[in-house]
Amino acid sequence: MRLADPLSPQYQTASLEVSPCLGEPLIEMANIVKTFKSAAGEFTALKGVNACFYPGEFVSVVGKSGSGKSTLVNMLTGIDHPTSGVVRVGETRIHQLSESRMSLWRGRNLGIVFQFFQLLPMLSLVENVVLPMDLCEMYPPAEREGRALELLRMFGLEGYAHSLPDAVSGGQQQTAAIARALANDAPIIIADEPTGNLDSRTADGVFEMFKNLVRQGKTIIMVTHDSSLASQTDRLMILSDGELIGEHVARALSSFPHKRLLWIEHHLHRQHILAGESLTAQGAFPYGLLLVASGSLEVSFDQNRNAGIAPVILRPSELLTRYDLTQMGDAISGLRAAPAGEAEVLSLSMEDFEQWMNEFPVDREKFKARARQLQEKWSQAEPQAAATEGA
Ligand code: ADP
Ligand code: MG
Repeated sequence: MRLADPLSPQYQTASLEVSPCLGEPLIEMANIVKTFKSAAGEFTALKGVNACFYPGEFVSVVGKSGSGKSTLVNMLTGIDHPTSGVVRVGETRIHQLSESRMSLWRGRNLGIVFQFFQLLPMLSLVENVVLPMDLCEMYPPAEREGRALELLRMFGLEGYAHSLPDAVSGGQQQTAAIARALANDAPIIIADEPTGNLDSRTADGVFEMFKNLVRQGKTIIMVTHDSSLASQTDRLMILSDGELIGEHVARALSSFPHKRLLWIEHHLHRQHILAGESLTAQGAFPYGLLLVASGSLEVSFDQNRNAGIAPVILRPSELLTRYDLTQMGDAISGLRAAPAGEAEVLSLSMEDFEQWMNEFPVDREKFKARARQLQEKWSQAEPQAAATEGA
């Protein structure tokens, strides 16, 4: 069997590694499937996406072109309907709203930046920014233009306020579109590649602006191609072929191609362990790869073979492979949740891991090199300090 096994029937039950929703999410996507039907046939662009977004978070969504990012954004904004599944924003199940209530709801609650800026060509920049305030009757009419000018000034566009979009550069149009998204002071900003058409200085300025808005309490979901911007947000979501890669897989295995991460996602097993409880019988490691999803995992080494080596604590998004243990002489004496609280671990079986390694020998070398580095680090760690060391 090849790693990238086509798996259509599986996707309804997939998303093994979607993080469970903690606390009260502001936005929840539950089992979103989107199938496009055309003369050429059907195409499923989102295959059962589950995701939560929390108030005040800055989340970036990345993925190859065609992976479903814009489709996902259109589900969140209500611009397009899912084939099945529910999107809840605050108290509202948005796809149950009528068209007219939806556009009012959208205008008041969401600031949207589209991938391809959509300023109205017959309106000046300032008129474009005033428009959402007019449509949703936000702010007293006499204040709207002043507010729009203030927003344009924030982006250095005050000199172009009365120009038509065509008379300014693409970057300036995009910046004006961002100003327009802020017009109604909506609590949620959804931006589809907002910096895609900007030079790097303007892009950095926009990103700083977004960070400021998050500090002021806004929630931002930003699709981006720019991995350096993505890495600066609170959380990264990877879409691959219409499926979301779990947060821990994305973080722990970020150097592998998205297709491989998706395969891992489909083969992971999830286990809960109570505080202090052992995951396996003493000394056993019946996994290829183990990844901590929550809580922490304590690995202790057999002191007959690894005298003086202190237990290692693995925290969320940290992993252990069987090569790490082989390197340590295959001698562990314990694998348990730390006494402080329960833990959740994700694992790949020995067989699945072996299949991956056989198919991609380069990956095997990567993991083996990592194991050698870990052995060195663990062997040198002071017993007390080891409790704070991850992998
Ligand atoms: P991304 O934004 O990640 O580049 P999209 O969400 O735009 O990807 O598209 C995901 C997939 O869905 C692509 O293969 C695209 O061709 C397809 N798709 C998007 N919109 C439509 C549509 N209206 N009709 C048919 N296929 C579509
Ligand atoms: Mg797109």
